[in-house]
Amino acid sequence: MIQNFKRKTLISNMATLRVVLFTGFLLLVLSACSQDCDCETPGAASNQGNTSEKITLRLAHGWPKGYPIFGESVDDYAELVSAMSDGRIELKVDSATKHKSAFGIFDFVKRGQYDIGQTASYYYGGKDPDALFFSSMPFSMTAAEQTAWFYHGGGLELANKVYEKHNIQLMLGGNTGMQMGGWFRKEINSIEDLDGLKMRIPGFGGKVIAGVGAQPTNIPAGELYQALERGTIDALEWVGPGLDLRMGFHKVAPYYYTGWHEPGTELLYFFNKDSMAKLPEWAKAVLMNAARLTAYNMSTATFAANTDNLEIMQDQFPELKIRKFPVDVITALKASNDRLLEEEMARSDIAKEIIESRAAYLKKARDWTEVGVKAYLDSMSESTVD
Ligand code: CA
Repeated sequence: MIQNFKRKTLISNMATLRVVLFTGFLLLVLSACSQDCDCETPGAASNQGNTSEKITLRLAHGWPKGYPIFGESVDDYAELVSAMSDGRIELKVDSATKHKSAFGIFDFVKRGQYDIGQTASYYYGGKDPDALFFSSMPFSMTAAEQTAWFYHGGGLELANKVYEKHNIQLMLGGNTGMQMGGWFRKEINSIEDLDGLKMRIPGFGGKVIAGVGAQPTNIPAGELYQALERGTIDALEWVGPGLDLRMGFHKVAPYYYTGWHEPGTELLYFFNKDSMAKLPEWAKAVLMNAARLTAYNMSTATFAANTDNLEIMQDQFPELKIRKFPVDVITALKASNDRLLEEEMARSDIAKEIIESRAAYLKKARDWTEVGVKAYLDSMSESTVD
């Protein structure tokens, strides 16, 4: 039996955190109320009466109902927001199963149909080409490096600069960590094997494989297995062992390649700026800090799920073959990526600013990763003692 995400354990751990956080926020709430007593007025809720203290906000995410980790983390967010606000903020969560638009979160929040959304920014390159830079980028930062860039290297400010014109404010939503390179029906032995290959791969990675002759497409989570099984696509990438194993891809595409295109993909919470402007300060603080904590929880949950399911893959599915792409494939993909980045930098000033910011932070952060984690791992593997 496939061991899934240990949600109950996470919830239990979160409960302790909530007690601590709630105490702090209660003080914040009391302080805010004593200053302006604005709490009587509802915030952005569309269905609030003037006398109610309760704030109701609508949230849409882009995953099927109850989808492990990605969808569950949104339910946990709603629970955390309720606990931290002493029940005064209620988030009504709709999944893609309800609203029927897995890639509609950007427009939902931009137009105010929903106050909040949770999704991946790189699904919206068609809405704004600069949205591609804020999930993960091929050959770029790992999860730890990129999270530091978002919070301490100007990344979140740049993301908000891009989304401001769409009436959206952002907060991190959780990182998948290193993503795998995907599931392939046939072994990839050289760059020629990618020529004409139909692959589900979103974001900048999709552009990169198009640059070497493959045909990228994007397909929502709920339709992935069917597309691969029926041969609509030849290959796909989704996330990593933690989320991929339960999808059953190994049954129809046994070659599982290691990653290059999404070394640390961040989901984001989208907040409609008009909705946020109507809220009292304490409520904004609850929403933002609960998102930040949820992002941390989702990141650790994904790491744990990857750990559990990789073990299961190796023990129970010997037909599943984990491979690295040949050097000539990685070299060609990297060259394609470099050409695209040059084109993007010429396209707009903001694209140039973002790409340069990412590159500068990558260089600095990677120095530490090399001296820290990589040197440690190298020392372990070089040791002559098991
Ligand atoms: Ca992916």
